Amino acid sequence: MMSPYELILKKKLNKNHTSKEIQYIVNSYLNGKFTDYHMTAWLMSVYFNGMNDSEITDYTNAIINSGSTLKWDDLDGFVVDKHSIGGVGDKVSISLAPILAACGCFVPMIVGRALGHTGGTLDKLESIPGYNAMIDLVKFKEIVKSTGCSIIGQIPEICPADLKIYNLRDQTSTIDSNPLICGSIMSKKIAEGISGLILDVKVGNGSFMKSMSGAKILSKSLEMIAKNCNIKVGTVFSDMNQVLGNSAGLYCEILESINILNGEGPQDLELLVKELAVRCLELAEIDNPLQKIDLAISSGKAYEIFLDMVNNHGGQLNAKNISSFNKPKYIKPIIAEKSGYLFSMDTFSIGMNLIEIGAGRKSISDSLDYTAGITLKRKLGDKINIGDEIAVIYNSLSKKSLDDFNGSFINCFKISNENKSDYVYKLILN
Ligand code: URA
Repeated sequence: MMSPYELILKKKLNKNHTSKEIQYIVNSYLNGKFTDYHMTAWLMSVYFNGMNDSEITDYTNAIINSGSTLKWDDLDGFVVDKHSIGGVGDKVSISLAPILAACGCFVPMIVGRALGHTGGTLDKLESIPGYNAMIDLVKFKEIVKSTGCSIIGQIPEICPADLKIYNLRDQTSTIDSNPLICGSIMSKKIAEGISGLILDVKVGNGSFMKSMSGAKILSKSLEMIAKNCNIKVGTVFSDMNQVLGNSAGLYCEILESINILNGEGPQDLELLVKELAVRCLELAEIDNPLQKIDLAISSGKAYEIFLDMVNNHGGQLNAKNISSFNKPKYIKPIIAEKSGYLFSMDTFSIGMNLIEIGAGRKSISDSLDYTAGITLKRKLGDKINIGDEIAVIYNSLSKKSLDDFNGSFINCFKISNENKSDYVYKLILN
C-alpha cells in the first residue's frame, strides 16, 4: 500500500482512489497509522477535489465496516427509516417512527445531536426525563423487535470511523463537503440494516441547502449510495423557509410530536409526517398507505407505541404526566411592530437565537435548557396587526437571555403588505 503521503498526494492531484486505498485510509485513521494531520490533509483534498460515485460508495462501506451492522432476518415486516438533512422545528422522526411501527414496519433509527442552527432529535428525546438514547446494540434490537421502533444516538459500536472523522471534520472546516456528508449520513443508515430509506431533503433559508439545484445534487448522491448498497430509496424535497410546525426548541417539540400522534398537530407538520410515512409504506409495498396511517393515528396505536418506546428507553412519560415536565419559568412575547402579512421568516437566525436562549449548544460541553424554545402564533401568509403576538419565546435558566434576544427574534419576522397564503400547499416541493 502507498504511504499516507502518497495517498494524500493522489487526492491532491485529483486522481481517483481504488477501493483498497479508501478502505486503508479509513481503517488507518481508526487504528492510528494515519495521524490527525494526515487525515486533515486528505479530507481537505477531498473537500476541494471531491470523489466519484465509486469512491463515495467505497468510503461509505469502509465506515460501515469499521463497526457493527444490524441484521433483521427474523423480523416479519419491512425495516425502514427516514433521514432529514435538518431544519428548525424538524421533529418529524419522533412521530413518524411510531406511526410506521403501527403500520407494521420496523424502524431502527439512529439520530444525531443539534448541528449548527438546526436542532437534534437526540437532544429533544433526552428532554424526556429518564430517556436513555445511548443503549447498547442488544437492547436496541430488543426494543425494535418488541415495540416496532427505537430511536438512539450514535453509539460507539456503530460506524466508529464516522465518529472519529466527523470530530476531525468539525475542527478542520471540512464538514460541508458533499462526498463526506453523504458517506457520513448513509453509513449510519445502512449500518441499521434497513431495506428502505426515505430522504427528507429540506430546501430554504433554514436548511443547509438554500437552493433546489444544490438539494438535487445532494439527493442524487445519497440515493446513489443507497442503490449501490441494495436499499430501496426515495426523496421528498420539503420547504424550510419557516419553522416546521409551531414550536422549535427541546421539550416543546416532544409535546408537538405527541399532538401529531393524537391527530391534533399543526397542519404543515402533519402534512410532512404523512407524506414521509406514505413514501416509506410505498417502499414497503403496503397497500392504501394513507388510510393505514390515518388509522394508526385515530386508533391511538401509534401514540401507544410511542409511549412504549419511551418507557423501554427508561423515559418516564405516560398519557397523564406529559404536561407536568419541563415547564418554562420565563416567557416573553415577540410583538409585531407593524401591520400586514407575515411575508418571510429568517429561519436560520431563529435557529441561532434558540441556541442563545438555551435550546442549543455553543460548545460541546454546554448544558441544555430542556424547557427552552419558541412557539409561533403566526405562520407565513398570516394577517398580522400591530401589537399582535407573532410568537412567544421561553426558557428557565435565564430571563435575561429572553430580554437580550427579543430584538433579534423580532428581526427574524418580515411583515409586508404582500400575501403569501398558499404556503402550506408548497411545503412538499416534488
Ligand atoms: N450529518 C451527519 O451525520 N454527517 C454529516 O457529515 C453531516 C450531517
